Amino acid sequence: MYFVMLGAPGAGKGTQADLLSEELGFPHIASGDLFRQNLEKQTELGLLAKAYMQKGGLVPDEVTIKMILERIAAPDCDSGCLLDGFPRTLGQAEALDEAFAVQGRNVDRAIYIHVPSEVLVKRLGGRWICRKCQATYHIIASPPKVKGKCDRCGGELYQRADDVEETIRERLRVFFEQTSPIIDFYREQGKLVEVDGDKDIQEVTRDVLSALAEEK
Ligand code: ADP
Ligand code: ADP
Ligand code: ZN
Repeated sequence: MYFVMLGAPGAGKGTQADLLSEELGFPHIASGDLFRQNLEKQTELGLLAKAYMQKGGLVPDEVTIKMILERIAAPDCDSGCLLDGFPRTLGQAEALDEAFAVQGRNVDRAIYIHVPSEVLVKRLGGRWICRKCQATYHIIASPPKVKGKCDRCGGELYQRADDVEETIRERLRVFFEQTSPIIDFYREQGKLVEVDGDKDIQEVTRDVLSALAEEK
């Protein structure tokens, strides 16, 4: 099964994709994580993406699509995956459908997590990420057991450079302008599963799983 996680920055796509990945057994593929790993390693792709990410804009479709299609061609995605942060434009959604069509695959469900804007800003301002395994924490909603350290791997936690007020506002604007049209794209295909993301993390996971079970 191939899943697409949709929602504004801070909606909980990464958090839920991690939990669903454990529950369903499919890998969690996050476009933002792939860009940040490239940036850390100072690859050509990372250096190209850097300027866009810093400003809160989108990395151009061409490079983003290539990066994701290469990643999902790996054997661990043979029977499915959870895509988080991709697609983010209609062009990306169409390119994914086209690539899948050639391979006899298709997106099975698009899980849209909706959360009010003012909640998103608070969530992103308190987000901490593990440098090693990319696990996500929140200072209030989901703190690590030991301050500054990842529960899962002991890695160092850090705050993303783009999780600052001005960049957050720009990313939200970009979401409403460029990404929200793909919600209708999946709705029209009968693939959209909508979930209220303004609840406890575990409650949201339960709601997603029961919505997926109902749809079967
Ligand atoms: P996204 O991948 O959609 O940008 P994240 O999963 O990184 O969102 O979540 C953003 C922040 O909000 C993180 O700090 C995360 O721990 C926190 N968070 C995620 N889901 C919830 C929730 N249901 N309630 C409260 N905080 C949450
Ligand atoms: P968040 O979950 O907080 O929105 P991500 O980690 O998914 O953040 O993305 C961080 C940044 O990486 C984006 O602001 C954008 O610059 C870039 N990016 C990630 N995914 C895409 C994509 N599918 N298309 C274009 N740019 C992307
Ligand atoms: Zn970790």
